[in-house]
Amino acid sequence: MTKVEQRVIELINEHGTAEPKNICENMGIIILSLELPERVNGFVMNRKGIWFIVLNDMLNDDQKRFTTAHELGHIILHGYANSINMSCNTGFCVSRYEREADMFAAYLLLQAEYDQYMDYETLTLDQVSQITHIPQSRVDNLFF
Ligand SMILES: [Zn+2]
Repeated sequence: MTKVEQRVIELINEHGTAEPKNICENMGIIILSLELPERVNGFVMNRKGIWFIVLNDMLNDDQKRFTTAHELGHIILHGYANSINMSCNTGFCVSRYEREADMFAAYLLLQAEYDQYMDYETLTLDQVSQITHIPQSRVDNLFF
């Protein structure tokens, strides 16, 4: 099990849910939906000790759910080290942090669909993409 996967499992056990929005609520993280430049899906920031996840209000519900999970990953895994972090699709922002946040989001959204711990190795690329609503190209990058 990877370090990222381990943190996801711990988080779910701690909060009794794998739904990104509910975990944020439990943790006092404020989610905002604002008008942002098109290439930006979302970002996290910390003001006076309070975390905010800012989402692009042009995203559809699935995209917002994934971006919330991704940004939550930054908070959990990277914290202050990465407190202003743009999430984008352009390939410009590919870094270890981005990849880890994507993995975090994928694990979390997979877990949200199952009551029991799920072994991803048994799933196909297609299934992972369908379950998480993460585009196949991105899933391919992460798991295969
Ligand atoms: Zn990111």
